[in-house]
Amino acid sequence: MSEVTKQVSPMFPTYARFPITMVRGEGSLLWDDQGKEYIDLMCGVAVTNLGHNHPRVNQKLKEQMDQLWHVSNLFNIPNQQKLAELLTANSCMDAVFFCNSGAEANEAAIKIARRYFQKIRGEERYEIVTCLQSFHGRTLATLTATGQEKVREGFLPLPEGFSYVPYNDIEAIRAAIGPKTCAVMIEMVQGEGGVRPAERAYLQAVAQLCREQGILLIADEIQTGVGRTGKLFAYEHYEIEPDIMTLAKGLGNGFPIGAMLGKEFLREAFSAGSHGSTFGGTPIATAAAIGVIETILSEGLAVKAFQLGEWSKNYLRTHLDEHPLVKDIRGLGFLLGIECTESVTVWVNEMHAAGVLVIQAGPNVIRILPAITIDQPLLETALSRIVAVLQRAKEQQPVI
Ligand SMILES: *Cc1c(COP(=O)(O)O)cnc(C)c1O
Repeated sequence: MSEVTKQVSPMFPTYARFPITMVRGEGSLLWDDQGKEYIDLMCGVAVTNLGHNHPRVNQKLKEQMDQLWHVSNLFNIPNQQKLAELLTANSCMDAVFFCNSGAEANEAAIKIARRYFQKIRGEERYEIVTCLQSFHGRTLATLTATGQEKVREGFLPLPEGFSYVPYNDIEAIRAAIGPKTCAVMIEMVQGEGGVRPAERAYLQAVAQLCREQGILLIADEIQTGVGRTGKLFAYEHYEIEPDIMTLAKGLGNGFPIGAMLGKEFLREAFSAGSHGSTFGGTPIATAAAIGVIETILSEGLAVKAFQLGEWSKNYLRTHLDEHPLVKDIRGLGFLLGIECTESVTVWVNEMHAAGVLVIQAGPNVIRILPAITIDQPLLETALSRIVAVLQRAKEQQPVI
């Protein structure tokens, strides 16, 4: 059949793609194949937190690429050691397992939670409580952990041992914990689920409850971590200490890397041979992540993201005050959401046409994720374009 010209794409249609092809990026600017310029307020979904083509990260990566790419985890990898030291020195965590994605980091978290109880404590605990509207990944265990029906459709049977409770509802978690529960897995801000920050008193009560019940608190910081919310890790806003934390998205600024971090008492739950990954923490992936963490720390970028995030929230609240299509403007640091009264799909596309990139979080929320390196004038230009699209949408509303 080689003469037959294939009309269809050679790829599975897993993504509904925007009709735009990006060819170049510099800081918070992107250019498409038509030469059109965009201000990037989505960062490849919270990934390129330091912007595109970051000189310091690029240099680290290039130096390592000229030396050594991969040797396997059968050898010592000094960059892994160095990155793990950076991460543990700047968090409440003591040990790190490296992998390649968010879902893998959460798989590792689920596995270590189960193994800790089954091998170290000798207890029959394996159930994990997660929240409705959460997002934890696309592997079988992590899509089961995800509290959204739509990601599970057609993938039965699912692994056992997950239950779901409404977010920001402490009584619901209290009621869901039983003798088989080993952990609570939770996002500090629900990202995919509509940019919903956890309430302070709620997360503190969840942490307290986990301690009382002797179960583990797993913070999924895959979207909120690495400076995104105005702290290196979002749990710091809440003055709690999770037992396990997972990272991925922003950690390599676009170079794939994930990490599962745990407290000292969990160390022996992952004994030699109990878990592993061929590519986890290669010399090059860890070089990129070292560049990212060193840059954030030395340039105080998280603090800046918090200040500009608050400023953005005020800017949007001021300019969209009493806008009939806007229900709520919320977020933490540079993880911002504009909740609307109807689907935002059309407006998101209009914003792209206006030269500003944002994405949806659920049907009705416009999600704004600027690079933590963006400067205020460029940010203001981008936000003014968002406001302009929403003002036009208001004018086009039928008068009742
Ligand atoms: C994106 C995301 C994941 C999944 O990460 P992948 O790298 O796509 O596997 C898990 N949890 C949260 C909170 C996320 O935002």
